[in-house]
Amino acid sequence: MPLPSGLPKAELHLHIEGTLEPELAFALAARNGVALPYADTEALREAYSFSDLQSFLDLYYGLMAVLRTAEDFTDLADAYLERAAAQGVRHAEIFFDPQAHTARGVPIGTVIEGLGASLDRAEERYGISTRLILCFLRDESAESALATLDAAKPYLHRITGVGLDSAEVGHPPAKFREVYEEAARLGLRRVAHAGEEGPAAYVREALDVLGVERIDHGLRCMEDPELVDRLARERIPLTVCPFSNVRLRVVDTLADHPLPAMMAAGLLVTVNSDDPAYFGGYAGDNFDGVRDALGLAPEQLRELARNSFRASFLEDDEARRARYLAEVEAYEFGA
Ligand SMILES: [Zn+2]
Repeated sequence: MPLPSGLPKAELHLHIEGTLEPELAFALAARNGVALPYADTEALREAYSFSDLQSFLDLYYGLMAVLRTAEDFTDLADAYLERAAAQGVRHAEIFFDPQAHTARGVPIGTVIEGLGASLDRAEERYGISTRLILCFLRDESAESALATLDAAKPYLHRITGVGLDSAEVGHPPAKFREVYEEAARLGLRRVAHAGEEGPAAYVREALDVLGVERIDHGLRCMEDPELVDRLARERIPLTVCPFSNVRLRVVDTLADHPLPAMMAAGLLVTVNSDDPAYFGGYAGDNFDGVRDALGLAPEQLRELARNSFRASFLEDDEARRARYLAEVEAYEFGA
């Protein structure tokens, strides 16, 4: 059977900073005169085979030093979109972390306008429609999140929603109640990472206190049958990232992944790549991975693709959503 990489899909859980491949990191480092502590791209690629969260975070934040100018962010997004298009992505709702850049002296406007320049031509160049979601780093303070949202106000025409990411444990959703209330007042959509390493209770809290419409990851809802019933009944999407879960040790192996159980429970799950440069593959690779490791049938893969468009923030363009869903139905897996 041919790989399902080409199955039309939306990617809803993708950190643009997590798409920085070693080759581009070196190219940007050279352009900006930034010294990297790696001899060459091979040595850096070696470092990408980290085995725990801390070594991942050290590498991830360390490499961001190469992102300095608007053009750097444009190049980063272009590189992602080109790879995503080759793997069947038709619509991408892209996360970015302004605090990871403003803390290094890069203005938020540089980040947003740089990404925006790429997204403006994404449809024409790559056949991908896009949305941008501003994420707060949950291990930073609530005040810092509020200041970030405030600094983003001149650019809200480019931003569809807000999210919450980075180290989950010890930083419950309720810490960010005020900034999510402000985001709602501004008409922004709301999502949050919850129930990845943190408990199922964080998923409830993200729904009840922050008013989120989608949960990013959410795997640990499976420990709470009442919560599973609610998520299924209310059709709350969960953006699952299988390769990420293995690399960050949320599950032992892909074969142990709860994705089939989540689908069987009636949850609206989608498959995404999270930080694809670091976790071993892009959206289509994740589809291939779960097909092979979990034995998902073509109709199950098609359902995951349908879910990705159902869960996407396309309420302002239902004709487009219908067109994408029709592409999913028309896709042929082959003999
Ligand atoms: Zn994530």
